[in-house]
Amino acid sequence: MQFNAAELIKKKKTGGAHSAEEIRWLIQQYTKNEVPDYQMAAWAMAVWFKGMTDDEIAIFTESMKNSGKVFDLSNLTGPRIDKHSTGGVGDKTSLIIGPIVASAGINVPMIAGRGLGHTGGTLDKLESIPGFRVRLSREEFVQNLEHHRFSLMGQTEDICPADRKLYSLRDVTSTVDSLPLICGSIMSKKLAENLSGLVLDIKFGSGAFMKTVDDALALAQLLKTTGEKNGVPVSALITNMNQPLGRFVGNSVEIQECLEILEGKTCVEKGFDFYEPTRELSLHLSAHMLRLGQVVKTVEEGYERAKQLLQSGEALAAFHRLLHYQGPSDISQLPKAKYSMNVVAKRSGFISAIQTELVGLAGIELRAGRKLTSDNLDYSAGVECHVRIGSEVVANEKLFRIFSNTEADLNRAEELMQLAVQIEDAPPSENLPLILKVLT
Ligand code: URA
Repeated sequence: MQFNAAELIKKKKTGGAHSAEEIRWLIQQYTKNEVPDYQMAAWAMAVWFKGMTDDEIAIFTESMKNSGKVFDLSNLTGPRIDKHSTGGVGDKTSLIIGPIVASAGINVPMIAGRGLGHTGGTLDKLESIPGFRVRLSREEFVQNLEHHRFSLMGQTEDICPADRKLYSLRDVTSTVDSLPLICGSIMSKKLAENLSGLVLDIKFGSGAFMKTVDDALALAQLLKTTGEKNGVPVSALITNMNQPLGRFVGNSVEIQECLEILEGKTCVEKGFDFYEPTRELSLHLSAHMLRLGQVVKTVEEGYERAKQLLQSGEALAAFHRLLHYQGPSDISQLPKAKYSMNVVAKRSGFISAIQTELVGLAGIELRAGRKLTSDNLDYSAGVECHVRIGSEVVANEKLFRIFSNTEADLNRAEELMQLAVQIEDAPPSENLPLILKVLT
């Protein structure tokens, strides 16, 4: 059926709901460049103001998925479960979860991303390992899954091309922050992985894109409904990003943290294991993946199984298989920074809040993240956290250590880190848990 793009824009602008045929037509024509960017931009803005119904969002997501190729994973035995995080600072759980879940017999086909804004990206972290390859062909990706059930790669030209075009258009037309458009963008790429289940890590807080719990919940509910309307069961965890996750923020340093957790190591300072948040969140997310993959009956059983796979070294072996198949990569040669500086407390008191987005931005100043898409990263740069919310500190005590290969970058990053940390006389009255809510 043929439609008139201007009439569809008018319908959305005046608050109407599209039929499935209208949405499919619009996305197909846009993919073929038959609907130009200026009409799509006008439609995206109409959606920004008027929203979409759950049914419209489900069809929009399906159409974006079908604009490219969907992975054929029919040769794989066992379920296919992935995890998606909305992005954070020090958020490195994928590299622990993938090995745990794969060693439980579940396929984990992960299409991962690069850093976005102040948040880090799994592909960048992996590329800090000398020799690690994230650019795989479809065939290689599927073969890796057949061999060892865990493979990671970036989005390619033929995965959701409609989303790629629309995402760049949204970026320059102030239409990124629309829940229906975010939902369609995230879920189309996940559905293209041909999953039998998906676990979402929806972050809230000062280092997340969704600053409030209510906004995180609204996005989680929408993503879950959209997945389910497209036949994929989804569990969503609403998790705390009011401080960096774990000990390190950066690329090679986050890989080192993951490796040590997989090796069963801890990182205890003043009685607190700074690896615990990363390990706990990874175990909980894995538990939900194991339940969706039906290798356990309950999340509690999933948690125990995940812990056992971690403690027995099976997950570590799965991680080494990933390094081998996507290499040969040499994790003993992770780059190390030449220069470092301590960020010290300006006064005595308690850490009452951390503006975590500023920690991510300090990471960008250190070149652990990009200002321009064309920027090259310093894989060794990053931040080491010596305090967390509630820590008691004395004046001049080390709060963070920042490091880089460019000495001059340390000063600007130090200023941002000082702005990020708030010290008060009394401990904070409220400190929300790491996992606030679960939608199953
Ligand atoms: N991540 C995506 O892939 N798309 C969005 O719209 C936002 C975050």
